[in-house]
Amino acid sequence: APAGDTQTVSGELRTADGVSILISININDPAEIDALDPATAGVGLMRSEFSVTSLADAANEERQLAIYRRVLEQAGEKPVIIRMLDIGGDKPLAGLEDLPALDPGLRGIRLLLARPEIARVQARALLRAAVYGKLSVMLPMVTFPEEVDRMRELFRDEAERLGRRALPHRMPPIGMMVEVPAAALMLDTFGSVAFFSFGTNDLTQYLAASARDAIDADAGNAAPAVLRLIAQAVKLAAGKPVSICGDMAGDPHYLPGLLAAGLRHFSVAPARRPAIRSAIIGLNADGTKAAGE
Ligand code: PEP
Ligand code: MG
Repeated sequence: APAGDTQTVSGELRTADGVSILISININDPAEIDALDPATAGVGLMRSEFSVTSLADAANEERQLAIYRRVLEQAGEKPVIIRMLDIGGDKPLAGLEDLPALDPGLRGIRLLLARPEIARVQARALLRAAVYGKLSVMLPMVTFPEEVDRMRELFRDEAERLGRRALPHRMPPIGMMVEVPAAALMLDTFGSVAFFSFGTNDLTQYLAASARDAIDADAGNAAPAVLRLIAQAVKLAAGKPVSICGDMAGDPHYLPGLLAAGLRHFSVAPARRPAIRSAIIGLNADGTKAAGE
């Protein structure tokens, strides 16, 4: 891009003082991949629970493969992070309501490890889809490193099985959501994780003891605590790729605090991009306003 151009075709932007910032998009419905224009870095979060909504879907490897493949092919050279099913909590899966109803803590990766037959099908679909683009896999609601280790083991098992069946596949990098406060505080213990992405929706909920549907009211008050936790966790990430995909990332109001916390990669709903882009151009990388703004 010519000097002075604030936006390149790669989805890279610069702050007023010249620090490079990436903006990716979050997608729910896979059709939203159409919003991936050249000015976007990639898909920072695809919530797979919007594509897999019943136990029948969860058991259907070919259907999942077709969905993930289409998204990856459409994204071309751009990286796509698909998050494994985050079911339980506020996101039910038709046919699997009982377990999380009995134990509200049983969601995300815990539920996947408790029902490994669901995780195995999704792992196979993702391993096979990885051949068609730049796929990374993200694990939801991780609390402990052992959970990541167990899921990686499951991926290795399934890769071996696919190999025995001579089905094309590739092992994707495996990263995790940072949305449980216990994980954020201990981020330096997640040595085998390829990348981190902050989920401020759940991080706020669990940090501030607020109901998820009350977050709009509580998020403002909890923001200083959430921002401090994120700043500490970014330091603990020790140079591994770090991004943020929670709703805070799409609200320009929080941008100074998130920049000051060290974040340089923001994944936001497609509709939030214009506001975030123009806000970044007017800020320095430490979150202060650019001179003349
Ligand atoms: C989050 O918790 O911030 C997040 C991005 O995940 P979800 O909104 O799907 O829970
Ligand atoms: Mg979440």
